[in-house]
Amino acid sequence: MKITNKHLNIALHEAQKTNVRRGKIACLILSTSGKVITKAHNLSVFGDCKRFTIHAEQAAIAKALKINAANRYGKLTALVVRYKPSTRTASMAKPCEVCQSLLSMAEIDAYYTDKKGLIRKL
Ligand SMILES: [Zn+2]
Repeated sequence: MKITNKHLNIALHEAQKTNVRRGKIACLILSTSGKVITKAHNLSVFGDCKRFTIHAEQAAIAKALKINAANRYGKLTALVVRYKPSTRTASMAKPCEVCQSLLSMAEIDAYYTDKKGLIRKL
C-alpha cells in the first residue's frame, strides 16, 4: 500500500474539522489499492476537553467495522495525520497505546506523520 500526497491532503483536510483546538488529528482507512474506505477526525465529547476525546483512529476503525471493510476490501491500512495550524502542515501523529492496540487487533497496518510531517510506518 503506497501512501500518496493525495492521501495526506485528504487527511489534513479532515483533521481541520475537529472541535479539538490543540491536536487536530485525522485517520484514513485505505484499501490495498489506495481507495479511502473511511475517514474520521478526533472529537472532544464535551467541548474542547482533552480528557474525553474520541481519537481519530477509534472513530475511523469503528466506521470500518460497521461496514465490514476488512471482508469487502481485504487488508486495510490506516494513515494518521496531525494538522498543525501555525504552519498548515502535517505534524506528529503517532497513535497512542490504546489506538495501537485497536489497530493491531483489527489487523490494520498503520502509518503516521512524524514531527517533520514525514510518513512513518508504525
Ligand atoms: Zn489514540
